[in-house]
Amino acid sequence: MSDLRKRFEAAVMPNYGVPPVALARGEGCRVWDTDGNAYLDLIGGIAVSSLGHAHPALVAAVTAQVGTLAHTSNLFVHEPGVRLAERLLQLLDTDGRVFFVNSGAEANEAAYKLIRRRAGQDRTYVVAADGSFHGRTMGALALTGKASIREPFGPFGADVRFVPYGSVDALREAVTGECAAVFLEPTQGEGGVVPAPEGYLAAARRICDETGAALVLDEIQSGIGRTGVWFQHQREGIRPDVITLAKGLGGGLPIGACVGFGTYGTAFGKGDHGSTFGGNPVSCAAALAVLDTIDKDGLLDHVTTVGELLADGIAAAGHPLLAGVRGSGLWRAIVLTEPKSAEVEAAARDAGFLVNAIKPDVIRLAPPLIITPDEVVSFTAALPEILRKA
Ligand SMILES: *Cc1c(COP(=O)(O)O)cnc(C)c1O
Repeated sequence: MSDLRKRFEAAVMPNYGVPPVALARGEGCRVWDTDGNAYLDLIGGIAVSSLGHAHPALVAAVTAQVGTLAHTSNLFVHEPGVRLAERLLQLLDTDGRVFFVNSGAEANEAAYKLIRRRAGQDRTYVVAADGSFHGRTMGALALTGKASIREPFGPFGADVRFVPYGSVDALREAVTGECAAVFLEPTQGEGGVVPAPEGYLAAARRICDETGAALVLDEIQSGIGRTGVWFQHQREGIRPDVITLAKGLGGGLPIGACVGFGTYGTAFGKGDHGSTFGGNPVSCAAALAVLDTIDKDGLLDHVTTVGELLADGIAAAGHPLLAGVRGSGLWRAIVLTEPKSAEVEAAARDAGFLVNAIKPDVIRLAPPLIITPDEVVSFTAALPEILRKA
């Protein structure tokens, strides 16, 4: 074990185990470990490093802002925060409002409080999906449909009813006039990159309209260009009432957002919620650099093109361990015929590729949005041998 990993084990809580590699630096889609070995980064800090590592636009924006004004707290207004809120509303094509936080879990906590505030006391419960992931804090965890990570920490003091993901009938049955909100991911990320079936989100929108429940879409992993559109729901042609963002928004700097559409934007009154660090100037400057670069460099179309190259290359690997590939854009799952994802992750690492064994039979890929066709092909060309070694 490397010296740094030994020190990690002795000083850091064991909830992550001891990760297999200690990283020292990165550039573009490449990272280097503390022994100097290079890897192609196909997980991007879990769909976070949208512009890869040490992108000049991100470095310049953060450097300039930290040297100008790093923090104000919410007692004062600052330009990067206002500009970022305006930009998100423009991309979402809404006259709603934005609340900034530091992480995905906090964005969902804000959304949960927002819909509780708006719904009043007659709407007593919320609906979420089996297999969903909304974060590790107590409110977000109460919404998370994975029993193994939720149940050890209950009770939560929240009435959350879980439905099978993708079943319109189950949703129709679960959502009544007493339901405050439905929380859904457009594609379940931690669940193994499982896209919603065609028409599911549109049906959820209709059911929420009929019952008056709020539709909250968790786009923390799916948003900010990951699937080749700014936000995945835009491809479905539906409008949520609330959306949550984080991961790719800051390109590696911690920032999240809860966006209320229309009158949901003004459901919080003065004093209802807050965050000391949320939307600090440095993270907002980073997010603006991410959004500007996606725009300026045409990365949405790029994601679609190289995403298809990646999926086609995986499908062509033609190995008995390969069951198929799913997902969209630069967000893909390699589905295995046997529970050997840990072995595949290790074999990929030995071959110089960082991938993520998200489930026993699923490998997740979420590389930086700037990954080149050559880099994609270097992985898909190596994949048959990686599968053979696993
Ligand atoms: C990662 C993730 C979260 C939690 O984000 P954190 O920043 O880890 O708190 C919530 N929802 C979805 C869909 C996610 O992918």
